[in-house]
Amino acid sequence: MNFLETHSFKSELYVKSENDSVICLACRRKCKISEGNSGFCKVRLNKKGSLMVPYGYVSALNIDPIEKKPVYHFMPGSDTLSFGMLGCNFRCDYCQNYEISQVFSDENIKNISFRDISSDEIVSIAEDNNIKIIVSTYNEPTVSIEWALEIFKKAKNKIKSAKTGFVSNGYLSDEVLEYIDDHVDFIRVDLKSFNSERFKKLTKANLKDLIVSIEKIYKKGFHLEIVTLIVEGFNDTKQELKEMAFFIKSLSSDIPWHITRSHPDYKMSDINTPEAKKMDDLISYAKSLGLNYVYGGNYDTFYKDTLCPKCGEKIFERGYMSLKYYGIKEDLCPKCGGKIYGVY
Ligand code: SF4
Repeated sequence: MNFLETHSFKSELYVKSENDSVICLACRRKCKISEGNSGFCKVRLNKKGSLMVPYGYVSALNIDPIEKKPVYHFMPGSDTLSFGMLGCNFRCDYCQNYEISQVFSDENIKNISFRDISSDEIVSIAEDNNIKIIVSTYNEPTVSIEWALEIFKKAKNKIKSAKTGFVSNGYLSDEVLEYIDDHVDFIRVDLKSFNSERFKKLTKANLKDLIVSIEKIYKKGFHLEIVTLIVEGFNDTKQELKEMAFFIKSLSSDIPWHITRSHPDYKMSDINTPEAKKMDDLISYAKSLGLNYVYGGNYDTFYKDTLCPKCGEKIFERGYMSLKYYGIKEDLCPKCGGKIYGVY
């Protein structure tokens, strides 16, 4: 038996199809998987007509500040217990975690990095370190969503006021959004491009489907934050930022938007890192389009503090992936009483 077979359990998120094939319902690809094969993500397997999915291990387990996700409007200054798995339903050439996300889809990656662990052990580690937020991150959470939910349910049963979240590419099916509804508090989603062709070329997925998914995530009431990684020559025009901003604004001008700087990685080792001045210019432009919370990331920028959108009072001051000043009163600006979007 190979690694995936020994680290799997039976999913609840599939329907049977003809000749022992199954249709996976986890992400918007809805792969039809014949017996003995796996879906596009390579980690969800059809074994004798049942869908077997990742279980009982992590590829990484760390205590990270929530600012590192980046998530700025959900219990700022808190530590999270963050775990990753293996595999992804996208194929981005600039992936910064490709050694875990593409390990089964890129034959050049030989080493499977993992540690056996139970869901009870993960929850105990959170408890022992007084951590209230558990996050599925590093690779795409959707491909191992059943395992994440087992951990999240146990955490919420055992730890008072425990919260849970996903750092995701957002390509979640309607069925999955129902499945996680009562168990996940925040979803941080990537909006990689607003051009259908370039989005498809990068991810091998459809932008239209992602947009539907982001709309549903917000409308179902998950706390939502969006990240756009700026890659030179790919998505670094003001026109594209404007289209993204108008889409986000059509949902709510309160949704935090993190515009972050890329660096050369994986199959895009020849790209330029955008200059700080260019990043500041793009962020300043994005802020002028009517969104209340636009931030910079992955470089030293002053666009990382939260100001009250009504009166400009400083609500949170941040350092690099850290919180320096916490100035909110419940969820209101202490100066003008305006509401600040988020969970505090
Ligand atoms: S998670 Fe997505 S990519 Fe993976 S098998 Fe299911 S539908 Fe396919």
